[in-house]
Amino acid sequence: MKISFSKIQAPITLLAAAVALTLTLPNAATAQTRPVEIHDRINTPARSTPLGGADSPGASAPQSKQVALTLDACSGAFDEELLDFLIRNRIPATLFVTKKWLLKNPHGVAILKARLDLFDIEDHGENHIPAVIGQGRKVYGITGEPDLLHLRREVNQGALAIQQAFGVPSHWYRGATAEYDQEAADEIRHMGFKIAGFSVNADAGASLGQAQVLQRMRHVQGGDVIIAHMNKPKGQTYEGLAPGLIELLRRGLVFVRLDQVDLAEIR
Ligand SMILES: [Zn+2]
Repeated sequence: MKISFSKIQAPITLLAAAVALTLTLPNAATAQTRPVEIHDRINTPARSTPLGGADSPGASAPQSKQVALTLDACSGAFDEELLDFLIRNRIPATLFVTKKWLLKNPHGVAILKARLDLFDIEDHGENHIPAVIGQGRKVYGITGEPDLLHLRREVNQGALAIQQAFGVPSHWYRGATAEYDQEAADEIRHMGFKIAGFSVNADAGASLGQAQVLQRMRHVQGGDVIIAHMNKPKGQTYEGLAPGLIELLRRGLVFVRLDQVDLAEIR
């Protein structure tokens, strides 16, 4: 069979194109780092303790006994049972709320607003968009931000909604999914927010059963930052978290809010 010049040439051209593509891809990839979870533990007590934080027992507790409970309100409902439990047991927590959640849960907002002595309300964004930059990028199937302008809007509008609902400024930011790419993390910090990581994932997005949540709570040590959710009352977060929190209190651990401490990143 006679092979024409053009038929041989075509695969070579394709191969050359493929080689050229692989050579250029690493450069493109470095511009968009893989998103990472930021893992933090309690580092040092913060110098300023707004909202009466200095008077609460947590602020003066030895660092080795301090634990921070953080609860995300992404979108969806209000886990009133969980918040009632914290109020009854006087357990302080830092609540990361989105504007989306605030608008849907006026009853929850009213309950929190009456207990700003116990709860530090912080920024979880406007619409629960992950802090990754670039067209089509996703985390856990949720589309990220097309550009920095949209990221800034997500962060700023979340903070503004908290200011309007509670009359308090936000100092901490936690992005949807708690994953960030480097560009987004740099921008959030540049905007003046501290990024709130965590060290114990207690409920895996409110997807775990009671026994699993309790099991994870039993691993909590002084200095840990716990993440769980307060927007999925139909899950079993409360059922596992409540006995877990009681056990931590019995072990002599003391709960602090993020406006009372600083965090340090762990690897
Ligand atoms: Zn969330």
